[in-house]
Amino acid sequence: MKATGGELGWLTWPLDQGDKTLNGSQLYTYSVCNVGEREQDNWLRTTFIQRRPSASRVFVELKFIVRDCNSFDGTSLTCKETFNLFTSESDADVGTTFRKGQFKKVDTIAPDEITSKNEMHINTETRVVENLSRKGFYLAFQDIGACIALLSVRVYYKTCSATVQSLASFPETVAGSENQALREVSGQCVENADSEELPRIYCTVDGEWVVPVGQCQCKPGYEEVNDSCQECQAGFFKSAASADKCEPCPANTQRLESRALFCPCMEGFYRAPADPLSGPCSGLPSAPKDLVATTSAGKLLLSWSPPEDNGGRTDITYSIECQCCDGSVCQSCSEKIRYDPANVGLTDTKVSVSDLDAHINYTFTVEAHSGVSLFINQITTMRLVERTSSSLSLSWDVSPRPRVQSSPIRYELTYRKKVRHTLLEKNFVQISDLVPGTAYLFRVQALSSDSSPGGSSMEEQFETLNEGTEQKPQGKNCMCFDINFQMGFCIFLSRKRNSHTRQGPEDTYFSSSEQLKPLKTYVDPHTYEDPNTAIMKFATEIHPSHVTKEKVIGAGEFGEVYRGILKVPGRKEAAVAIKTLKPGYMEKQRQDFLSEASIMGQFTHQNIIRLEGVVTKFKHAMIVTEYMENGALDRYLRDHDGEFPSFQLVGMMRGISAGMKYLSDMSYVHRDLAARNILVNNNLECKVSDFGLSRVLEDEPEGTYTTSGGKIPIRWTAPEAIAYRKFTSASDVWSFGIVMWEVMAFGERPYWDMSNHEVMKAINEAFRLPAPMDCPSAVYQLMLQCWLQDRAKRPRFGDIVNLLDKLLRSPDSLKTIADFDPRVSIRLPSTSGSDGSPFRSVSEWLESIKMSQYSENFSCAGVVTMDQVLQMKNEDIKNIGVRLPGHLKRIAYSILGLKDQTSTLSVFAV
Ligand code: AMP
Repeated sequence: MKATGGELGWLTWPLDQGDKTLNGSQLYTYSVCNVGEREQDNWLRTTFIQRRPSASRVFVELKFIVRDCNSFDGTSLTCKETFNLFTSESDADVGTTFRKGQFKKVDTIAPDEITSKNEMHINTETRVVENLSRKGFYLAFQDIGACIALLSVRVYYKTCSATVQSLASFPETVAGSENQALREVSGQCVENADSEELPRIYCTVDGEWVVPVGQCQCKPGYEEVNDSCQECQAGFFKSAASADKCEPCPANTQRLESRALFCPCMEGFYRAPADPLSGPCSGLPSAPKDLVATTSAGKLLLSWSPPEDNGGRTDITYSIECQCCDGSVCQSCSEKIRYDPANVGLTDTKVSVSDLDAHINYTFTVEAHSGVSLFINQITTMRLVERTSSSLSLSWDVSPRPRVQSSPIRYELTYRKKVRHTLLEKNFVQISDLVPGTAYLFRVQALSSDSSPGGSSMEEQFETLNEGTEQKPQGKNCMCFDINFQMGFCIFLSRKRNSHTRQGPEDTYFSSSEQLKPLKTYVDPHTYEDPNTAIMKFATEIHPSHVTKEKVIGAGEFGEVYRGILKVPGRKEAAVAIKTLKPGYMEKQRQDFLSEASIMGQFTHQNIIRLEGVVTKFKHAMIVTEYMENGALDRYLRDHDGEFPSFQLVGMMRGISAGMKYLSDMSYVHRDLAARNILVNNNLECKVSDFGLSRVLEDEPEGTYTTSGGKIPIRWTAPEAIAYRKFTSASDVWSFGIVMWEVMAFGERPYWDMSNHEVMKAINEAFRLPAPMDCPSAVYQLMLQCWLQDRAKRPRFGDIVNLLDKLLRSPDSLKTIADFDPRVSIRLPSTSGSDGSPFRSVSEWLESIKMSQYSENFSCAGVVTMDQVLQMKNEDIKNIGVRLPGHLKRIAYSILGLKDQTSTLSVFAV
């Protein structure tokens, strides 16, 4: 009004009675002053005010003048000193249509100071209009007999303006309302930055940003410069997402252009497996010098000087090789003679040789080695040479081509279900007795002379032909180059299921070779003195540059879990989940983190989450597993409440039980089986996950401290495990029963909001969870069996798989629905008034089960007494308008519990 000198288009009612005055042409006001007249009802309405959809809370600031009633003679009886502010929401501009009834009063507006004959006071008042939801609104001012002038009306809402904080950008955000005082806003990392947690910040009602959460950091290859991430310059690198600056390339490395994650070694220089990728590369040592042979007391003493160039390393060792030549034919003679102290791994520059034969010409070669000599024995390619329906022949290359080894190599052969290890001397193998039309995974690793793994391993997938389609491969002539060196190769063999291969549950095991015994039991990684040995044995090392993190999908106990891509050269790209270890960990935490991979790596089963590999040799340790698109089972079911028929739910349980049977066959006790630890993929296959060792006792979110100090997820745990830590496959069966319940109840929390203490007490008193709604009777009976107090009487996982299979084969068996059985079922904690007395009204009862929002539905349907409530069936509850499955269940259960209390006192226990 202040700014405009013209017509505002506001509507007055009664028409043309509110006055617009231009006071000295400076001030445009609306005024009214009918103080002498009775029953005033004058309105002024604004034009339609469009609303930005997110602005549900607007402020109205009014500037106005009110004349003192006492300043009018004889009118004080009817004269007023206030006016009213009204608002009306609308989805469209209604033009000059005006209906008083459509306006809601916001407030009565009174002046702080009134204007007398001599002195003018301008008042400013601000009011908030909340919860606006339609396209726009009107404001209206009602005068009931005052002498007022409205000078200005300012309508506004508050926003937090777009900002960049901690490398995350947040959009302009409209401030929330009183009932949502802090509006949470997700941000996005600026270009080339990443964060472990989704960056978030809160916008206050006053339009201020507070409490930023989750810091973005520049990606590997980028560094922070003025709120943005810039590429590392040529000759610099940054290997991890961090707040650090790019570092110059270390010695003996190549300068990459820009954005380098690390600086690769220059030709002829290497890094040993334990060398950090950020460190320098070292060369091979040159030859030892000045080899001298002397004889004394029938022994030959060889001594030499260290190499001139140790390649920049201190871990120099020596090996000796002996050759005897007869004419032009030479052979190794190291086995026939004796070295003191040894012929390999020497750190001293001398050795004594005995048991030499007379009149023979011996030639000794001394070689210098260092940490990188071992590493450079890398498997570089693996290829299929020939295949039939039952055999595969492969060959592979090793880099660099090994020279004749100086010592005999010992070979280890291990084998276990599905995964077979075999040790070889040649870089070629033919494996027979395989299943036609099936893909197998091969992993080859070069072993050093002391049988410890050296260098990197390589994994490839090859498929046998379908029966009747025998053929020679196209690349037969690429077959093995001539190999006449000795080197240990370890082949890990595992079979991958083909979509077109039908399989029974046990069929996934490898069983074709009689001479090899399956390794049946799981090995606790803690039995290894050095946990790194366990991880090397059970997991494949992945280079971090083959892993790309894409998006945070969850929070693990050690750090974020990401969805990402695994792209190993020569292999198909695969979607993976990447578990990370938070920066700043202790060595113990790192080992605990990796122990999960050491455990997971021992399992190969359709219903156990598959380990793809680990990153252990770089700053940020990672565990890479297959990606399960639908995430954790509890959440997935909650999001799809009521969407699956029993048949499908039983199918899910069948998968979980098959995975658990496999684990129990391997003598692995899970201890934390719960729907939150089952993952679901796109095909709705369920796989058991979460194999941390320390987790159950320390970091489980559901965990509660027991008297003995450990942490246990009470609701899922068998009584004997809670009481005296008797964790066995039978206690896993109890937990499986709870998982069955969670599945049938679509992710409902077991025992609802009962406290852990109430749960333990009820279980002790032999009560059990009631059957979920629409749960087949046979399935509920199985749950009750899993929850037998005597653990010896509970079914075993093998029995459970068989029973569920049987149910799935005859779907009619799922048609009988379990009843609520008051003799065995736990009662909901709030099925009576707090003092145990019956509820006096429907609304009191609804309030006790936190369902007050349906009070009106009950009363509208004429259900006004508790007696009527007790008569209601599930259908009736649905019909009165309770639609959400969770609410339906809560109300139905409560009614069942009430019936139980009112009918009989004879409560039996299982
Ligand atoms: P965990 O530390 O194993 O409990 O993982 C934490 C969360 O990350 C889980 O609840 C899942 O939501 C998610 N997650 C873990 N592993 C995977 C996976 N392989 N595929 C998909 N989501 C996963």
